[in-house]
Amino acid sequence: MILGALEAGGTKMVCAIGNEQGEILERISIPTVSPEETMPQMIAFFREHHIEALGVGCFGPINPVKGTATYGYITSTPKLAWQQYNIVGAFEEALGCPVGFDTDVNAAMLGEATFGIAKGLDNCIYVTIGTGVGVGVYINGGLLHGMMHPEAGHLLLQRHPSDSYPGKCPFHGNCLEGLAAGPAIEARWGARGIDLKDRREVWELEAYYIAQACVNFTLVYSPRRIILGGGVMHQEQLFPMVRQQYQELMADYVVTPELENLNRYIVPCSLGDNQGVMGCLELALEAVGEQLLAKGLQNGKLFDL
Ligand code: ZN
Repeated sequence: MILGALEAGGTKMVCAIGNEQGEILERISIPTVSPEETMPQMIAFFREHHIEALGVGCFGPINPVKGTATYGYITSTPKLAWQQYNIVGAFEEALGCPVGFDTDVNAAMLGEATFGIAKGLDNCIYVTIGTGVGVGVYINGGLLHGMMHPEAGHLLLQRHPSDSYPGKCPFHGNCLEGLAAGPAIEARWGARGIDLKDRREVWELEAYYIAQACVNFTLVYSPRRIILGGGVMHQEQLFPMVRQQYQELMADYVVTPELENLNRYIVPCSLGDNQGVMGCLELALEAVGEQLLAKGLQNGKLFDL
């Protein structure tokens, strides 16, 4: 099948063509401006390749809950031009094919669960730490939505006694994103993370917050693995620090085979930063399956499609 993938970000739209094996055949990037300007360019690209379904992993907040009035909308995003925009409806109308829809981090989680390091696991967490923090949650073999979708990037954390930085989040003084995303590192230390590589205290503090979040994810979601991705996690020295602080904070409270080897429990993403696009391909495929199922049910012959 020819599947379309859209990794919709606040600064760029990555549009790709691929197949159900997760192979990416072509990819372009379009600046995110406004629906009026950006949508026609994306639609033209997908039309040109005659895609049979589209999967959209989208910046948020969004409404991914099927059956609700604003399903498929980007909702209260700070990107004003896209507020209350029915992105799924616009693609369905223009392309006439099934459209799968979820958050960008849930799509990345799905990519890892289908093609990557979480393949075969029933429960897993994907955390991306970059300009913001997003968390994708895969539970009992499916992505978690609930009343909207998890916003665990804003998990409230205990501040380190030595940290006087007030936090970057306009809503919370001490949330994960506000204390540990790229802009917080830059504001706290006066330089970009990439230029602070050799400052051990920068990464020890960063690891303290990420490890706290990971402990909380273990306690709340019971994941079999925690995947850490995003630009900040390109600082690979963070991984052993996070694992060590995780061990100290967990204090052997939870004892499972998974936690015996933290090198296999807290891991980097595995698909070379393609997990988002590959997850969108899987979202597209799932949308095809759901449409076939709906048609089968309508015709009253579920097994004769
Ligand atoms: Zn916050």
